Amino acid sequence: MELKLKEGRIGTTVTGTIPERLSLKGRVAMVTGGSRGIGKAMARGLAEAGADVVVVSRAALEEGEAVAADLRAAGAKGSFAMLADVTSRTSLDAAVDEALKRLGKLDVMVANAGIGIDVNAEDMTEDQWDRLMDVNLKGVFFSAQAAARHMIPRKSGNIIVTSSLSAFVANGNPQACYNTSKAGVNMLVKCLAYEWARHDIRVNAIAPGFIMTDILGPYLREFPDEAYGYMIKPAAMNRIGTPDELAGAAVFLASDASSYMTGQCMIIDGGYSLTPLENRLL
Ligand code: NAP
Repeated sequence: MELKLKEGRIGTTVTGTIPERLSLKGRVAMVTGGSRGIGKAMARGLAEAGADVVVVSRAALEEGEAVAADLRAAGAKGSFAMLADVTSRTSLDAAVDEALKRLGKLDVMVANAGIGIDVNAEDMTEDQWDRLMDVNLKGVFFSAQAAARHMIPRKSGNIIVTSSLSAFVANGNPQACYNTSKAGVNMLVKCLAYEWARHDIRVNAIAPGFIMTDILGPYLREFPDEAYGYMIKPAAMNRIGTPDELAGAAVFLASDASSYMTGQCMIIDGGYSLTPLENRLL
């Protein structure tokens, strides 16, 4: 049957086998919060898939440079590290400019930098609230915006945001502000995806459950029983995750293998969100 469409298109120009479509060869990515933890693992995954990666951190230049050296050794020869504070639009614009100067373009922005502040809601100060929202919500918006200013004229780009399982569940921590910031991030992803689809820019999120990084390390060591009770036991897979277990999703979202996907949030949580609520309560 012949399809007659007044407007719109069917399909894309994407061709090739699945391994070819997953390849990021020739692409340039920027990862905020790339100096350690989840951002570092995502940067490594993108580099292994073929991208050159700009590793951005706020203050940890030495750590970032070690990550970039590792990526270059893995074949992502143009990778480099730099400092940028995601709470500053000027700083992010400068980071994107530097990527363009050194690598000629930016195909993928991973807005991953984030912080956590554990404090009972009734005790949280205005300064703590503002600091967290500045990094976790405004910082994601500025990162996406800085990338989009370059991507819109090129009519091509891909933005990936690190959200959290905590956007969906009150996670057992005193983290009302953190969880709210991540819920905001999910709506931001939908809105940006909607607005920028006409520029051929896709925007998606990854929502990790509990992942072993510096954010969790000290708590796990200090309060192993409590940590087991609310981080590990409720996950159907009965363990916390590792940063490497998120890298494949980042590659998928950054690549042409996900070419019809935008505005979505992939939950990767070892089955935590499948668990009945009563099993999640301490
Ligand atoms: P992490 O190990 O503490 O690393 C945080 C990274 O963000 C560091 O590279 C840090 O750089 C950077 N950063 C912080 N503030 C910044 C700023 N203002 N500007 C630029 N960079 C900044 O954290 P992580 O566990 O990998 O978390 C990464 C993301 O995943 C966050 O958005 C977090 O909310 C989310 N997440 C984590 C988990 C988990 O269980 N770990 C679960 C769900 C979601 P500096 O060292 O230079 O400050």
